[in-house]
Amino acid sequence: MPDSKLQVIPLGGLGDFGMNSMAIRYGDDIIVIDAGMMFPEAELLGVDIVTPDFTFLEENREHVRALILTHGHEDHIGAVPFLLSRMNIPVYGTPFTLALVERRLDEHSKLKNTKLNEVQPGGRIEIGPFKVHFIHVTHSIVSACAVAITTPLGVIIHTGDFKVDGSPTDNIPFDLHAFAEYGKKGVLLLMSDSTNVDRPGYTESERAVRPRLEQIFMSTERRLIVSCFSSSIHRLQTILDLAQQYGRKVAFLGRSMNDVTEIAHDLGFLRIPDSLLLRPQDIMGTNASKVCVVVSGTQGEPMSAMSRVAVDNHKHLTLETGDTVVLSARIIPGNEKPIYRMINHVARRGAEVIYGSMNPPVHVSGHASAEELKLIINLVKPKYFVPVHGEYRQLKKHAAMAESLRHEKFDRSIIMETGDSLEIDSQGARKGPKVTVGRVCIDSGSVDEVVEDIVIRDRRHLSEDGFVLPIVAIDKNSGTIEGQPEIVSRGFVSFDEGPLLEEARQIVIKTLDSSNAEERGDWGVIQEKIRVDLKRFLTKQTSRRPLIVPVILEV
Ligand SMILES: [Zn+2]
Ligand SMILES: [Zn+2]
Repeated sequence: MPDSKLQVIPLGGLGDFGMNSMAIRYGDDIIVIDAGMMFPEAELLGVDIVTPDFTFLEENREHVRALILTHGHEDHIGAVPFLLSRMNIPVYGTPFTLALVERRLDEHSKLKNTKLNEVQPGGRIEIGPFKVHFIHVTHSIVSACAVAITTPLGVIIHTGDFKVDGSPTDNIPFDLHAFAEYGKKGVLLLMSDSTNVDRPGYTESERAVRPRLEQIFMSTERRLIVSCFSSSIHRLQTILDLAQQYGRKVAFLGRSMNDVTEIAHDLGFLRIPDSLLLRPQDIMGTNASKVCVVVSGTQGEPMSAMSRVAVDNHKHLTLETGDTVVLSARIIPGNEKPIYRMINHVARRGAEVIYGSMNPPVHVSGHASAEELKLIINLVKPKYFVPVHGEYRQLKKHAAMAESLRHEKFDRSIIMETGDSLEIDSQGARKGPKVTVGRVCIDSGSVDEVVEDIVIRDRRHLSEDGFVLPIVAIDKNSGTIEGQPEIVSRGFVSFDEGPLLEEARQIVIKTLDSSNAEERGDWGVIQEKIRVDLKRFLTKQTSRRPLIVPVILEV
């Protein structure tokens, strides 16, 4: 029996939603599965993205051998640039996942010294004592994999995100055989996606959205605008196929939509006939019945293309009466307010909005429901079961599900939260010591602007750079500005000298001028625009980052 112990250490994504990351250690070797981010909730005003705290990995930096990526969603790859800025470790993933990582690294000019190693679904690699097998699974993004990690103490299977789609749109089936093979030989630990454990039955196939979308393509007479996640390649292919079938040209709007469709097209995951594409600048000049616009920004993100279209501030698309807007995505819990606000703006333009759950659906989940989760547990028959990717209530339910399936090799389920550790040796499995975890808030997506904790961040900003309050009075109904914007600051020394304060005021005025009445009437949008513009200006002028909190007075 090997004398070293195996440790499983979740760094994010267990007990909280998003920023998935998991470390696995055997002896002196650590591998990391996924490094995801999450978008901040509204109360983290002034923060752009949130990543896991990688202190544990930094403290063990000489032992960290590799980062293994299951698939290309932001909650699995979004923190890769931040992790790589701390330690230069090789990264393994499918070509599509790595292309999305490359795009992120490019933005941070981190590409030069990074080793990205492509592994095809089905491929195997060896890292120290670990043999890692990438197993193809079906999910809302293409090229998603589970990983089976063979260690001296046994096999660990981490499902990544999945659903069991019996009829995937790309006809590449879920590799259930691989799960069954491992199950036959014996699996020490299964870690499985808990997102939809609450949903009974089976998740619909991605193909289920086609009938409803087809109905919409058939019945829409004017412009058709579809917003979905840019990474939903299956969904995009369905939309492209329908557009071709119903004689509409397709324009892509939004940076992520353009980037990701180009990557998917280059790698052969998206079939786009050349004659199908329409340049964004030609949208308004083309017969409305011949146009389909695919737009990113389903979650009402204030600066996204869809939000700008909604408030009539996009240079290439003006919504008109009779246009149809389809939100083909889930409303992520917590985003209801901005999404419904965006839908209200669209409705105000006279366009019809199709969203939410309806039958047949315009969106289906990418995560397995209860019966699929049972299928995986039954195939794998693990000794230990640890639910992952979910809030505590979901982990608990998933753990109970595995217990209830009690098969001959099963020992028990173990509920772990981010910061717990699990130790397995020849004696069995038990909870180990806690490790340092947390969330790290990052300004403007730059690796150089990483700050520790939200509270520390605010205190440091306040102590070093002070704070700036742009104050604007706006008539909520008409969107007109009352009087002149004012700027109040404390502890921000740069305003004490020179003409900077006046210039900053001009920036705010310019932001307000470039916004239309509807945007100005929408606090969420206008606050974010002022914050972003003012921050860019102050950072450039002073290299300081005061805490900027726009205050909108309703008059
Ligand atoms: Zn995920
Ligand atoms: Zn995912």
